[in-house]
Amino acid sequence: MAIDDFKEEICNALEEYSKQVDRLKQQMDDSARSSQSIQSSIADLTRRYAVIQAGESCSICGYPLLTRQFYVFPCRHAFHADCLVNKLKEEGNVTLKRRIGEVQGELGRSGSEEARVKAMEEFDGVVAGECVLCGDLMVKSVDLGFASEGNELEGWRI
Ligand SMILES: [Zn+2]
Ligand SMILES: [Zn+2]
Repeated sequence: MAIDDFKEEICNALEEYSKQVDRLKQQMDDSARSSQSIQSSIADLTRRYAVIQAGESCSICGYPLLTRQFYVFPCRHAFHADCLVNKLKEEGNVTLKRRIGEVQGELGRSGSEEARVKAMEEFDGVVAGECVLCGDLMVKSVDLGFASEGNELEGWRI
């Protein structure tokens, strides 16, 4: 009699447990779906075209943007292509630096127009994946950022 009670309790507990597992699984599915939709809206954002005022300047060197090829990010930061590449090469991690070297090499080698366009797309993907001032890269190198800001201030005082 006592053992039967116990059994029933275990069965109930197991049933409750498997319900919880189902609920958790449902929640995980939901959050996977919402993170997918966040990712796709970020992708939409990065593809969105930004209108540039004639007087806007590069967020790295401060010279007008329109003098050279440039990239604009959804956060409104904009950089000359070469300023961006230099900064990524200075502050990026080893993997990023190697990827930049690789795609620059591909760009240099590409003979046909088709190969050039493909290499250029790849290059864009590597250097313009995220804003160098707002993205993960900057979070990791925030000390560096403060140091160079300090230098600039000193420069102004002179
Ligand atoms: Zn620049
Ligand atoms: Zn930015």
